[in-house]
Amino acid sequence: MSKIVKLEAENVKRCACCKQLKDWRYFHADSSRSDGLCVYCKSCASKKGKKAWAKYAKANRKAICERGRNRYAENRESICAKKYLSDAKRRKAEPERYILSQLKQRCTNPKHKSYQTYGGRGISYSPTFDGANGFANFIAAVGRRPSNKHSIDRIDNEKGYFPGNIRWVLASVQGRNRNNNRMLTFQGKKQCLEDWANELGISRSLIRARIDRLGWSVEKALSTQLRKGA
Ligand SMILES: [Zn+2]
Repeated sequence: MSKIVKLEAENVKRCACCKQLKDWRYFHADSSRSDGLCVYCKSCASKKGKKAWAKYAKANRKAICERGRNRYAENRESICAKKYLSDAKRRKAEPERYILSQLKQRCTNPKHKSYQTYGGRGISYSPTFDGANGFANFIAAVGRRPSNKHSIDRIDNEKGYFPGNIRWVLASVQGRNRNNNRMLTFQGKKQCLEDWANELGISRSLIRARIDRLGWSVEKALSTQLRKGA
């Protein structure tokens, strides 16, 4: 009996961090130490590890993100080449498939919420994007999406999704194109918001705010001059 008690007492070690006596199984192995165990208990080691990582991550955020992106890009082809992937994994590995299907919907499905500004305006897509090789042709035309902050864009807004007219752009670039797209008719003249802003000397954001936020008519938004000194 006493021997067992003694053995149990031998099976404990004091953690150098929390100073508690703990059973050996609460310590990670460390073959470089004489007793074969880490100086710190597992929970202290974990806390220290998290703290060290947080410090490192704070100082190296950009590099870590970059590394993650590169690793993902490197792995992507092999992930995509897998024959059996769940729909969710396929969508994550190949977001271009969903993007392609959505752009087709915008151009062809009158029930799609954006149909009016795409298919309804005569925007179409290349027939080579249909069929068994459709996705491969799409990727050949525009490449893989560089990052999840990129979306598909048409270089010439009046033309459809055809090879040569499509590219990946950052959301901010597309936002600017949307302003160019926004057509306003005033005094019998139809031109985009950007051009009206330049012509009348009213900022784009003010015109947008007047129409969208204040609910003004286009007429009032474009004809109301700024107060002097404002
Ligand atoms: Zn400890």
